[in-house]
Amino acid sequence: MDQINPNHPRYESLMIREKLVRGFKDGYVVEQGLIAHGRGECFDYLIGEETIPPALKSIRAAAAALRLAKHPVISVNGNTAALVPEGIVKLAKLVNAKIEVNLFHRIRDREMKIYNILRSYGAEEVFGVNDDLITIDEIFSERRKVSLKGIYSADVVLVPLEDGDRTEALRRLGKTVIAIDLNPISRTSRAASISIVDNIVRAIPKLIEEVNIQKTLSTEELRKILEGYSNEEVLKEVIKYILNKLHTLSKDLNLLK
Ligand code: ATP
Repeated sequence: MDQINPNHPRYESLMIREKLVRGFKDGYVVEQGLIAHGRGECFDYLIGEETIPPALKSIRAAAAALRLAKHPVISVNGNTAALVPEGIVKLAKLVNAKIEVNLFHRIRDREMKIYNILRSYGAEEVFGVNDDLITIDEIFSERRKVSLKGIYSADVVLVPLEDGDRTEALRRLGKTVIAIDLNPISRTSRAASISIVDNIVRAIPKLIEEVNIQKTLSTEELRKILEGYSNEEVLKEVIKYILNKLHTLSKDLNLLK
């Protein structure tokens, strides 16, 4: 990895890029993943590169949904494996979720590399690679193939960095879909049951923290959290947050004369 000075003002952001570039050079992050990250970075800039209050609401609801789930599954792609492999394994153990490798660009070598990364962080079982796959209709990419024992049988699916088609298809199958997507106006964010508009590198640790906090809550209390959650409202709050931020910024910069 190239040396990045920790005093660089954009150190964190550059380190994230380095992880993705390393994943790309190692052959499990694809070019399209690097571009998708760039789109995410833009939205991250707009929210101030921090977990904002509406995202915390979603994280709270997501933790409750995962705790209440009977068959939770966490879907992992190349970018997720590059950025938060340890967090994914930790979260899966905490909520007793299965982990499934699910790729838009499904190539055996990539699948195996991601599988090995997850295993190296302690995942006991990883689905979607060596097990039975089943095809979901209406998705026109390789992501239509899901594991029979994994996503296909899941009631709650956590899909970080997802595309809209599959989110919509999973919803049609009656699943609760939790998305992590920095873009509050993507089809994914709008179609998901719970959208966490935050960078995955912050969202996963916060989700782990929240699951631990909710350990003392009863099923009834967890259900109440979910009942009080509205994804539409949360996405509106995110957009308002960005608008306010831009407004303040333009005033500070004297742009609104
Ligand atoms: P949709 O089909 O939902 O409209 P899309 O075509 O933008 O979305 P992709 O190209 O698959 O879907 O992009 C993936 C999404 O992941 C982007 O919206 C981007 O904002 C988001 N993203 C990228 N990197 C991160 C990250 N580190 N954390 C959270 N979200 C991210």
